[in-house]
Amino acid sequence: MSRPKVVVAGLGDSGLLTAIHLSRHAYVVGISAKPALVSGQELGMRLARPEEWSRDYFIGFHRYRGLDRVRTVHGSIEGVDLTARTVSVRRADGTTVEEAYDVLVISTGVRNGFWRQPGLQSNDEVTADLRHAHDRLATACSIAVIGGGAAAVSAAANLALAWPEKQVALHYPGERPLPQHHHRVWTQVEERLTARGVVLHPGHRAVVPDGFDCDEITDVPVEWSTGQPPTAADAVVWAIGRVRPNTGWVPTELLDEAGFVRAEPDLRVPGQHRVFTIGDVAATDPLRSTARNRADRLLARNIRAELAGRPLRAYRPPRRRWGSVLGFQPDGLEVFTPTGRAFRFPAWSIRTVLQPGIVRWGIYRGVRRS
Ligand SMILES: Cc1cc2nc3c(=O)[nH]c(=O)nc-3n(C[C@H](O)[C@H](O)[C@H](O)COP(=O)(O)OP(=O)(O)OC[C@H]3O[C@@H](n4cnc5c(N)ncnc54)[C@H](O)[C@@H]3O)c2cc1C
Repeated sequence: MSRPKVVVAGLGDSGLLTAIHLSRHAYVVGISAKPALVSGQELGMRLARPEEWSRDYFIGFHRYRGLDRVRTVHGSIEGVDLTARTVSVRRADGTTVEEAYDVLVISTGVRNGFWRQPGLQSNDEVTADLRHAHDRLATACSIAVIGGGAAAVSAAANLALAWPEKQVALHYPGERPLPQHHHRVWTQVEERLTARGVVLHPGHRAVVPDGFDCDEITDVPVEWSTGQPPTAADAVVWAIGRVRPNTGWVPTELLDEAGFVRAEPDLRVPGQHRVFTIGDVAATDPLRSTARNRADRLLARNIRAELAGRPLRAYRPPRRRWGSVLGFQPDGLEVFTPTGRAFRFPAWSIRTVLQPGIVRWGIYRGVRRS
């Protein structure tokens, strides 16, 4: 019997790993609007040190050994026919192709701010975007970061580290940022921000101008719905967590009210035959946490079980966010557990153990040098 064909729609953090796990067991086709992994992780590092960020988070698909058996298609998925079991893909040259599947994985992620957009892009266009954001911030004397999640905190901390002479301020609506993390996480991160001179502004909820999608760095004064006078800065980074799912191509019967893909605990899409979902687009739990909790292994196992007629297993999400908040720092990488405890990989271990051994071999099963 010929091998089943799995189409992975969206080769970001979760889709890429799912494709790697399945590549020895099925004929896998990965479809992506980018010709590389352009990770959604570590905004602060990406803005402040784009070359360093690119080394670990912007990696051409041809460099992943685990993708050698996977056919990658550079294109934007525009629709799916659930009866005929095909997705239609617009490629970079403007032509459209139909890709048939036995199993479909929906992993097209979310859009969020200027740094995470789903448009069809070449490597040069991704590189130009990275450089443009960095250069824009480099020329600013004052930077206001708006938002209270990990992206905003990480942006403020890393920009203040890169440019100690600039005024960097963080404005957030609550009493403290990182409300979805354990409270101990903020206590530890706050020390770092204040040591770097980041000015903290709790209780500031920004008014988002009409028609503005928070998808660019602005320089007009920010107004506050919480009553404070407007704030002016040379560069305003909007990281207010206004995520929107990349599901314009998915039929509405597969989506919840907010447009995310409905999911059973075993990552199947309810009522669909052999359609699965994972990552930030998948409405698995309130934090939509399958990407950071590495449910890619479970998904690959469940797809194999489904094809073999075996029982599937359930995804069990933790209740709090966890992981790295600031990314690599001069003294190493701090990772917070769901209970707010930190463990740190020392700086010397990042390039000698963590990246080459744990990440590139352990997680990605081999990444070739660029
Ligand atoms: C190993 C690992 C470690 C992590 N560590 C942390 C951590 O420490 N802290 C933390 O907070 N989070 C962490 N995360 C999670 C991370 O922050 C995000 O949750 C993750 O980037 C989301 O992945 P995704 O695959 O859902 O989306 P994305 O990575 O955004 O991938 C979606 C892809 O689909 C493409 N796409 C969109 N629409 C289309 C279309 N129509 N056609 C074709 N392609 C399309 C997009 O361009 C993109 O390439 C981690 C994730 C992983 C895998």
